[in-house]
Amino acid sequence: MTPRHDGIYLERRGKKCISFSCNDYLGLSQHKAVKLAAIEAIEQYGTGACASRLVSGNHPLYEAIESELCAWKKTESALVFGSGYLANMGLIPALVGERDLILADKYIHACMLDGAVLSGATLHRFQHNDLDSCKRQLEAHRAKHDRCLILTEGVFSMDGDTAPIPELYALAQAYDATLIVDDAHALGVIGGGSGTKYLGENMLIMGTLSKAAGSYGGYVCGAKPVMDWLVQSARSLIFSTGLPPATIAASLAAIRMMRDDSTHIEKLWNHIRMFADRLGITPQSAIVPLVIGEPQTAIKLSNMLEDAGYFVSAIRPPTVPQGTARLRFTFSALHTPVMIQALAEDVLHLMPHIAVGKPS
Ligand SMILES: *Cc1c(COP(=O)(O)O)cnc(C)c1O
Repeated sequence: MTPRHDGIYLERRGKKCISFSCNDYLGLSQHKAVKLAAIEAIEQYGTGACASRLVSGNHPLYEAIESELCAWKKTESALVFGSGYLANMGLIPALVGERDLILADKYIHACMLDGAVLSGATLHRFQHNDLDSCKRQLEAHRAKHDRCLILTEGVFSMDGDTAPIPELYALAQAYDATLIVDDAHALGVIGGGSGTKYLGENMLIMGTLSKAAGSYGGYVCGAKPVMDWLVQSARSLIFSTGLPPATIAASLAAIRMMRDDSTHIEKLWNHIRMFADRLGITPQSAIVPLVIGEPQTAIKLSNMLEDAGYFVSAIRPPTVPQGTARLRFTFSALHTPVMIQALAEDVLHLMPHIAVGKPS
């Protein structure tokens, strides 16, 4: 565990480093207006929600953020959970059970997987971003089950690539399934900031307020009857205390800022492109992996970058498949063009022979 300083800086072995391993893509956790909103909410409502949302913990800020979220995502309804993890743990078991089927992209995040396992539904994985593989699984298994979910991510957390959402949605419709998209790394980054586009009632988009929104909390957006059902049946919503008012106030201010002020996302993409262009790769999000191969090599390179004043995490199996250990760079609007240029030159200098890895 590494102590984080302000914004993009953190401390490693007593030394101040620039972090390229943080999810605060737009720098909103440090934004004055966002901080002020949190402070004002504490003054007005106190520090805690003091009960489950269903009992007496549902303070007015919840309604404000849920209506902002569904207006921005263009869905009928939205529901805020305690975290992204809790959203998946509540959502998936509320929708499917033992008689049902879940088809999941091989690379989905641990918390979707945990939700899927908890549901008791039959779980099959399809090859990453492979529509034919998904379709084969549907053909083989769909008819044997009542309901069916297809799970994927808007932006994959370790590869930074996006999913073929319209095509997966067409499959979901053809096979009477519901597509659930985890948009944790997509909100604030792709689609002009609003993340994955909502395509209709056979789709749910869930995400977190802990990444680009710089705060904490999870959400699900979709059709109203589904949200109504979740309020009655998602156990991680019902049996856990509501979020602190300041946390929601910060998220709300951040969501409004993402929607109304494009300067943060423009800076972010400028940084992503500067780095990727210099290394000759095509970025799809704020997550840019350089696949190295062997874990020891990835760790060695991460340490060398640390000596040069950067914190870039080395991601190793089992988090990623064997043979694909990598350096995972994430970018922020808080970086500066000078920092990005220097980083790119240092990376090229340290790794002149590295074949630049395309996300697999
Ligand atoms: C971070 C993350 C989550 C969990 O969100 P929290 O709000 O931190 O619990 C869920 N899914 C993906 C893909 C993530 O990257």
